[in-house]
Amino acid sequence: MAVDAMCSPLGPPACEKDAKALQFIEEMTRNADAVQENVLAEILRRNAETEYLRLYNLGGATDRETFKSRIPMVTYEDLQPIIQRIADGDRSPILSAHPISEFLTSSGTSAGERKLMPTIREELDRRQLLYSLLMPVMNLYMPGLDKGKGLYFLFVKSETKTPGGLLARPVLTSYYKSDHFKTRAFDPYNVYTSPNEAILCPDSFQSMYSQMLCGLYEREQVLRLGAIFASGLLRAIRFLQLNWPELAHDIRTGTLNSKISDPDIRRCMTRVLRSDPDLADFIESECSKDNWERIITRMWPNTKYLEVIVTGAMAQYIPTLDYYSGGLPKVCTMYASSECYFGLNLNPMCKPSEVSYTIMPNMAYFEFLPHDSNSPTDATSDKLVDLVNVEVGKEYELVITTYAGLCRYRVGDILRVTGFHNSAPQFHFVRRNNVLLSIDSDKTDEAELQSAVENASKLLNEFKTSVVEYTSYADTKTIPGHYVIYWELLVKDSANFPKDEVLERCCLAMEESLNSVYRQGRVECNSIGPLEIRVVKNGTFEELMDYAISRGASINQYKVPRCVNFTPIMELLDSRVLSSHFSQSLPHWTPERRR
Ligand code: AMP
Repeated sequence: MAVDAMCSPLGPPACEKDAKALQFIEEMTRNADAVQENVLAEILRRNAETEYLRLYNLGGATDRETFKSRIPMVTYEDLQPIIQRIADGDRSPILSAHPISEFLTSSGTSAGERKLMPTIREELDRRQLLYSLLMPVMNLYMPGLDKGKGLYFLFVKSETKTPGGLLARPVLTSYYKSDHFKTRAFDPYNVYTSPNEAILCPDSFQSMYSQMLCGLYEREQVLRLGAIFASGLLRAIRFLQLNWPELAHDIRTGTLNSKISDPDIRRCMTRVLRSDPDLADFIESECSKDNWERIITRMWPNTKYLEVIVTGAMAQYIPTLDYYSGGLPKVCTMYASSECYFGLNLNPMCKPSEVSYTIMPNMAYFEFLPHDSNSPTDATSDKLVDLVNVEVGKEYELVITTYAGLCRYRVGDILRVTGFHNSAPQFHFVRRNNVLLSIDSDKTDEAELQSAVENASKLLNEFKTSVVEYTSYADTKTIPGHYVIYWELLVKDSANFPKDEVLERCCLAMEESLNSVYRQGRVECNSIGPLEIRVVKNGTFEELMDYAISRGASINQYKVPRCVNFTPIMELLDSRVLSSHFSQSLPHWTPERRR
């Protein structure tokens, strides 16, 4: 059939393959409710004999009403004992009738450790299916992507085994190591400059170096540049800032830096390396300039857009990305998690603030808990709303039931409905529930920050000093960004004021107390810089309160904000800083033993 004849309501597809993908999106979104009903029935049918579903006496029922009346809404903490049994090696059908193939380690944590999300082999196909829809949508808005390549900085992270022998690793590591990714068919619209060998190298320096080198060799061919999160793309720019002399040297001589010792990378780079003195001269002349504004478009002049997530916590990086790219469009293509991939952005060229994700009804069974931050205790399962019944303008927390056996599981994301595509709602990602600080994939909540401050401040006891107030700030002006904690101290013996070195140890003690995703970011990924404590003058937090009250806060209800980012408040705090201290070493981190 001619491509024109297959024109989709979303627009004319670029090729026959795209036509099928767009057609699939149309079918799924037109029949969203029926698809959801079938997904739920299929999950309940195949998992009917699992320990978990038997507990709730469904008696083989697969309909929504029985499901809703019997199955409770749960959090990770509710499921943790069960998940631990699976991790410990219990292979009986506990959550899923299909064997749990591995655990995906979420960047969300529980008791300081990454959450373990059980998954089954076929979920890879479902993820692959969602990936296969992204370029067909992109091609509607950006013709000609088959005429060049994408420079995407993609990485694997370390993996561990649970006591029962199951792999535990991040979802993207699992995907990049799968045959779905490694042996993907050639698609002219989706060619990467990075060889698989570079992406799959577990050493982040070697991986980044070789990906950057390939990207520089192919600078003219690069049409789009990306990473998963905005913070990752900025880390690549910082890497270029630090390593361009060596990269240019390799390009000049056609040899590979001796720091790249991974044999697979060395082997594959022989296909790429060549001596190109003109390119080396160009890189040296551009990168040695003091001004790095628009460096992305200078190095990769044909880039049409950046593909990075800049929604949610990543929005803080938009000004820096604009600075380095001269305001190139920033495309957020999809919304996903370790638990389940959710959906995609059908209007990828829109402004970041307008990004909405259309949840694909075939991915899992989705329910929505009306979100009211004023009455969180009202969060009961009888309030849950089905996918097609959410209301435009309202906020909900996402609750999922997956093929891998999570039932009515609270993801923790707050979404606002912006509209519908056919009968499938579209959601603006509002925020993750209860996340105070985030630089990369780390998510630190209020309780974690509080206990980190408590632990660190114990080091001040011997100086008869205590922390009377604190707040925090995610400082992303530097790359990598870092946590800043403002401390107001009560010093009982001013002759014995804690020295610099003590406050530096406090910084490290805070880092040691933070969750493992934070510590991994510091140690393995180098995606988070050393934590900083800024000691402020006595009375600063009272001034902060006065300021809030002058802007209408109630004096009785005033609470010290535990995280700040409003410019006048930052200016007030920074103008009262007496001293600033950084963590001098790395916190402890090793790939977790899952016990
Ligand atoms: P993880 O399970 O570690 O992969 O983290 C998944 C979480 O990352 C989601 O639940 C969201 O909170 C966040 N996330 C994923 N995709 C997006 C997106 N496109 N925009 C904003 N936040 C996202």
